[in-house]
Amino acid sequence: MSKREVRDALGAARELVKEWSEEGLESWEHFGAETNVETPAAPPPGPEAAPPPGPERAAPADGLGSDAPGLAEVRQILGDCTRCALHEGRTQIVFGDGAPDADLMFVGEGPGEQEDLRGIPFCGRAGELLTRMIEQGLEIPRSSVYICNIVKCRPPGNRTPLPDEVKACRGFLDGQIAAVRPKVLVTLGKPAASTLLGRDVAITRLRGTWQEYRGIPLMPTLHPAYLLRQYTPENRRNVWQDLKAALDRARG
Ligand code: SF4
Repeated sequence: MSKREVRDALGAARELVKEWSEEGLESWEHFGAETNVETPAAPPPGPEAAPPPGPERAAPADGLGSDAPGLAEVRQILGDCTRCALHEGRTQIVFGDGAPDADLMFVGEGPGEQEDLRGIPFCGRAGELLTRMIEQGLEIPRSSVYICNIVKCRPPGNRTPLPDEVKACRGFLDGQIAAVRPKVLVTLGKPAASTLLGRDVAITRLRGTWQEYRGIPLMPTLHPAYLLRQYTPENRRNVWQDLKAALDRARG
């Protein structure tokens, strides 16, 4: 994608509508039509409005328009979403957590049981491992990164989200990325990498290799839930290397 195309895609909400519509995704106007935007939904749970910690940010990467919708606007348009069947089983929407202008942004698959109950992504066992990797491994506060999932409602039994569910929710993930404008994206597990890269990936082969999403460096790594199941020295070493590479690149 050229710099101009990226700028067009992320420049403004109306431009996003047009871009996503052209790509066959749900249009922003359609999202808005299902949402009473004049009566904003309750603000998202968790520290969405946390002050940006860490070092001063560099200028945004070219094309990641400063006039893209902010997280609050994306959340408002999401509203009390019923755009896919996952809304039927959820306790609440799990939008995202962390610094709204984080340098590092993590994208997982979908909320699990604890996340669904608490409204915070990655707060169960896998989330605790992710938090340890961030805080004890990378030695940065979890609150300095931004964390979300490709779908915002818990799939039944923690199954992988279905293609139509990913498609219905995808615009909001794109909106979150455009709002945060991270220096580096880290995808956790196969579904997140496949979704953002637009192709089916073999995560155990792809992990640790730099990819790109709309001009943003993307590091695919293993999902912490997989790591819990396969807690081998090799997997731990690989994930550590991936996260360290992501942090080093984000720090420039
Ligand atoms: Fe809406 Fe996304 Fe939840 Fe589906 S998963 S109901 S699109 S918020």
